Order: sequence, then C-alpha cells, then structure tokens
Amino acid sequence: MQHPGNLFVVAAPSGAGKSSLVKALRSFDARVYPSVSHTTRAPRGQEKHGREYFFASEQEFDAMVANSAFIEWANVHGKRYGTSKKGIQDRLSTGEDVLLEIDYQGALQVRESFPQAVLIFVLPPSWDELRARLENRGEDAPDVIALRMKNAEVEMAQVGKFDFVIINELFESALFDLKAIIHAQRLKYVSQRRLRADVFESLNLS
Ligand code: GDP
Ligand code: ADP
Ligand code: 5GP
Repeated sequence: MQHPGNLFVVAAPSGAGKSSLVKALRSFDARVYPSVSHTTRAPRGQEKHGREYFFASEQEFDAMVANSAFIEWANVHGKRYGTSKKGIQDRLSTGEDVLLEIDYQGALQVRESFPQAVLIFVLPPSWDELRARLENRGEDAPDVIALRMKNAEVEMAQVGKFDFVIINELFESALFDLKAIIHAQRLKYVSQRRLRADVFESLNLS
C-alpha cells in the first residue's frame, strides 16, 4: 500500500544501542512518530505500560494474532513482540513519518506489506563491546544476556537485507548517521512535492 508518510524500520541485536539512538533522535525530531509495540515479556525496572511497550498476556497476544491486529509479529528471545496496525496506517496516510524499532524478522515482514519502508540496521562495533553494553545496562539477568548474545549472531547475519547500516561506535556519529538517513528520505522528490507544495506552485511546476 502506498502512503505519503515515510516508514522507517530500525533493527539491531539487543544492546547495539537502538533504543538509545531512537530516543535521542526523538529529542531533535518530533516529526518521527515511534510506534509502541505489544510484547509478552515482563516490564523492566522503569518501563511503563503504553510508553515503552503494551505489556500483554499470552492470551491477549493470541487474541490479537487471531484478529489480524498486527502488521508483523515475531518470537524474539523466547517472547513475542508485535506492531499493531492501529494508528500506524492512519499516521502514514496523513503524511506523518513512523519509526518502528523491531527485530529483523519483523522488519522483513514489514517490507512485504510496505515495500517503500526504509530498513536500517544498527551494528555494534565489536562482540566485546556488545557484551559490555548488555552487562553495563544492568537490566537483564546473566542467562538472558547469554541468550541475547547467542541470538545476535543470527540477527547480524541478516544485515545484508537492509537498506542502511549504522555502526554505533561513537554515539554522536551514529546519531548523526540516523538523522542523515531520515533527512535524505524527506528530500526525495515525492516528499518535497508534498511538504513544499507552495514552492512548486510558485515556480509553476505543476
Ligand atoms: P535534520 O535537519 O534534523 O534532519 O538533520 P541534519 O542531518 O540536517 O543535521 C542535524 C544537525 O546535526 C545539524 O545541526 C548538524 O549541524 C548537526 N551535526 C553535524 N555533524 C554532527 C555530528 O557529528 N554529531 C552531531 N550530534 N550532530 C552533528
Ligand atoms: P538496544 O535498544 O539496541 O537493546 P540500548 O539502547 O538499550 O540497546 O543500549 C544498550 C546499552 O549500551 C545502554 O546501556 C546504552 O546506554 C549503551 N550504549 C548505546 N550506544 C552506545 C555507544 N555508542 N557507546 C557506549 N554505550 C552505548
Ligand atoms: P527488548 O526486550 O530488549 O525491549 O527487545 C527485544 C527485541 O524485540 C529487540 O530486537 C526489539 O527490536 C524487538 N522488538 C520490539 N518490539 C517489536 C515488535 O513490535 N516486533 C518485532 N518483530 N520485534 C520487536
């Protein structure tokens, strides 16, 4: 389906810095609407229902799958995560940009229904750094970290299917790269035509 808004999809192995980058981006750019996913995992320390995630029971999640309420959903690290259709399609159709922070399986599913989606993959600079970030974040138990490190191998092997790659070594540079990708997308002819229709009109470019 074609929509005037841009759909950005950011994927990364856990700990690469995806959430930190998207959070920082939001502080500069309120035009990117972050979608809030549903998940069957338990909330972490500071997480609030409806802010980081909608925390759902297995039964609630099952019901949403049965009602085709998700654009995509996937099993990630033994829990289910999904992006609900509600809100996203409305936003895109009114020309707003939407950003999804999801795993690679979900990203590839999104591309099926939205071929124009911009798929961005965030890589850590090294395995040692990935482990250090997961440990320093202090949010996950050692067995959860071990599972996430193991899954990172399969996840990172998918990087070639993405349109853009950001290496999150120096945070500020990675943030700049993310901004650049979003900015370039907004400079495309179709976006400029819509966003700056006044200029096109005044130049008699019908
Ligand atoms: P947009 O206009 O917000 O989509 O973003 P741009 O890609 O045009 O640039 C955003 C801002 O980042 C500009 O003010 C740039 O000057 C600034 N900038 C340039 N280089 C860097 C850098 O290495 N790190 C950071 N954090 N900002 C930079
Ligand atoms: P993800 O959302 O990909 O799981 P987070 O955004 O939670 O990852 O980042 C994992 C940890 O790494 C956090 O503690 C974050 O503060 C830290 N981090 C993120 N980017 C960098 C970076 N460039 N350098 C050092 N630490 C970082
Ligand atoms: P975390 O539990 O660390 O917040 O997220 C674990 C993984 O689930 C991350 O790779 C994250 O991108 C992914 N994820 C979060 N929301 C969704 C979603 O709606 N769909 C899919 N497919 N993955 C998601």
